[in-house]
Amino acid sequence: MTERTGRPGRLAALLLLLAWLPGLHAAGRTCGQSGVWVQVLGSGGPEISDRRASSSYLVWVDGHARLMLDAGGGSAYNFERSGADFSDLRALLFSHFHVDHSADLAVLLKGAFFTDRETDLPLYGPSGNGLMPDTEGFVQALFGARGGAFRYLSSYLDPERPDEFRLLPHVIDAGSRAVQAGYQGPDIRTRAVAVHHGPIPALAWRVEVAGKILVFSGDMNGDYGTLPGLAHDADLLVAHNAVPEGATGVARNLHMPPSVIGRIAARAGVRRLVLSHRMRRTLGREDETRRLIRRNGYRGPLAFADDLDCFAP
Ligand SMILES: [Zn+2]
Repeated sequence: MTERTGRPGRLAALLLLLAWLPGLHAAGRTCGQSGVWVQVLGSGGPEISDRRASSSYLVWVDGHARLMLDAGGGSAYNFERSGADFSDLRALLFSHFHVDHSADLAVLLKGAFFTDRETDLPLYGPSGNGLMPDTEGFVQALFGARGGAFRYLSSYLDPERPDEFRLLPHVIDAGSRAVQAGYQGPDIRTRAVAVHHGPIPALAWRVEVAGKILVFSGDMNGDYGTLPGLAHDADLLVAHNAVPEGATGVARNLHMPPSVIGRIAARAGVRRLVLSHRMRRTLGREDETRRLIRRNGYRGPLAFADDLDCFAP
């Protein structure tokens, strides 16, 4: 008798436990609880047919998401699925402000209202030009009290509001070819350098944390020749695989083909390569891409990223 009534009770308890476990509700995926991890929140580009969120990455340290790089469309939802806590973030780093790298910033900031975050959040990104606002201008265009599209959130920029955290934009000069300091935390150092992404001011980022070096190419075509220096000795390089070999015209002016990725990774002495910002013109050509990267000198581990994948450097 006890047996028969006990079994459904145990089953219900097990189901309750499974439903409670973090991540299961949204079919998410968490990285390891110790060490450094890069989690891909968005492995796609701007297409709405690639079944991927647009560009975004988290850097996890001992179970806490400390940095978020870019915030393309869909990345806020994948932030939820990752189980990350917005209060843990020390800084947001942007490569540039194309839609597929920045559109979810407003989604994140609104969502932050419902978190426990109290400390200010620095946001680093490039300077502007005639086509793009600088980082300060981008934030003002979204949240500025005067004319910002989402000016109802302008208190996040208001220094007179001590009851809420503030978003603190910092501009990195994308007109210079020098490596420049970005966010500096107690145990995190970040640096950025300008990369060529057609006419758009754009940065690649280097993150040094817990003895590991992580580098994010962002969108770039390789013409400035700045990435090998920034990526020197990197444990992990996330490179954007937006165009196939033989791309021409606008696509080649914006993005690097596999041969360029291979040469940069080899020259920099990168120890692990992850390819992201995958688009329909490169999806399905992974064997060819891998072959070209090898042929151009990179021999280390190479992976193609999918949304929510975790990589240990
Ligand atoms: Zn892009």
